[in-house]
Amino acid sequence: MKLLLPNNVMRKMRFHMLRAGRREIGGLIMGEELSEQTFRLVDFSVDSISGTRSSFVRDDKQHERALSNFFEKTGANYRRFNYLGEWHTHPSFSVHPSSQDIHAMQDLVSCSGDVNFAVLFIAKLKWYWRFEACAYLFVREHLPSPVELIHESKAFLNYGIK
Ligand SMILES: [Zn+2]
Repeated sequence: MKLLLPNNVMRKMRFHMLRAGRREIGGLIMGEELSEQTFRLVDFSVDSISGTRSSFVRDDKQHERALSNFFEKTGANYRRFNYLGEWHTHPSFSVHPSSQDIHAMQDLVSCSGDVNFAVLFIAKLKWYWRFEACAYLFVREHLPSPVELIHESKAFLNYGIK
C-alpha cells in the first residue's frame, strides 16, 4: 500500500507534536482512496491529553466525533473518504511499532466487525524539526506489511464537498 502525505496535513501534525513535547499523542487518521492500494492522508484527529511519555490510549468519544465531522465535510462519500487507521507519536523511541502497538492493531482488525484493515502511522520529530514516520498495514488474518510513505510537496486543501 502507498500513502501520500500532503504537506499541509504534515504541518498540522508537526504543530501538535511540538506542543506535546515528550508526551505521546495520537488519534485517528482519515484517508482518501485514490486507486487500489493508494491512499492519501487527508485528516486526523488528535487527543493531546491522554498520552504519557511512553504510551498513548485514545478516548473513543472524542475521536468518533472527529470522524463524523469528517464524513460530514466529505459529503458522506464513504467509498472514497473513510477511516484509515490510527496514529500516534513516539517522541522517545524509534518510529517502529512496539509489540503492544502491533497487538492493539491486530485486535482492532480482528475484533471490530466493520474494520477489515487499518493503518498504523507512527511519527516523531527529530531535532524538533525533522519529521520521521513509519506506517504498517494491518489486515485481518494477515501479518502486518509496511506502507510506502510518499510526501506530497503541494498542499492539499480542497477535499470533498464543503
Ligand atoms: Zn507506539
